[in-house]
Amino acid sequence: MRVLKLGGSVITVKEKPMTADVGNIRRLAEEIAAAGPGRLVVVHGGGSFGHPVAKRHGIAEGFTSRGQALGFSKTHRAMVALNSLVVDALVDLAVPAVSVTPSSFVVTDGGRIGAADFDVVRRLVDGGITPVLYGDAVLDRSRGFSILSGDQLAARLAVELGASRLVFAVDVDGVYTSNPKLSPDAQLIERLPLGRMRELVEVGGALTTDVTGGMLGKVSEAAAAVEAGVEVLIVNASRPGVILKALRGEPVTGTVLTR
Ligand code: ADP
Repeated sequence: MRVLKLGGSVITVKEKPMTADVGNIRRLAEEIAAAGPGRLVVVHGGGSFGHPVAKRHGIAEGFTSRGQALGFSKTHRAMVALNSLVVDALVDLAVPAVSVTPSSFVVTDGGRIGAADFDVVRRLVDGGITPVLYGDAVLDRSRGFSILSGDQLAARLAVELGASRLVFAVDVDGVYTSNPKLSPDAQLIERLPLGRMRELVEVGGALTTDVTGGMLGKVSEAAAAVEAGVEVLIVNASRPGVILKALRGEPVTGTVLTR
């Protein structure tokens, strides 16, 4: 049983609102199809679909005005649009993918998933179907609503469903000593013990604020899965063949998170 989180940085063009990277989506669907029928859950991020709309309406900050209801709706709709591109690409290649809407069964509390019933997802997987979930605008017990990240959802699913492997697909080779897009000297960390994150990865400083948002957030969400004994990998899905290998359990360049 594997959980694959497809990063918004890979399946969308991040700097262009509502723009999917259809080439990457098709290629990744091909790699998933080629990996063969095994138990798999796919979760994807929002990239240029969910994030700009959610930000415009302050959805992650919770309920502040009635006017946000339309923003909640539009954020969800943007994610549904992206989700259907991913599901269509998979079904076209005969992968039995089924969209599962996170906001219809997850209510967060302060942005965190509390008790949630993963029975439907579990039964789909047991039935040989590949559920495809995504980061979504969700209801929140204390804030009214919130944004549930694909990263948090993927890690929780990996724990709940007893996955052996959780693969985070991003647009860089893994976790580096600092953001590789900003610092040419950044070095890839192939094995990253959770407790040494702050010591090995540069945080703070003007150029590295992205670490806190992007990669540091991902590693923190993944921690629960690592603690539960799931093998967690962060790999580069922009490189052809990497996801195929990662799903097959073959060695691949990237970062393995360890206890
Ligand atoms: P996604 O949306 O695809 O899930 P994010 O964009 O949130 O992924 O995170 C991946 C990005 O994190 C990379 O594109 C990279 O620019 C950035 N990043 C920041 N710090 C680091 C780091 N120390 N190592 C690797 N990537 C980093």
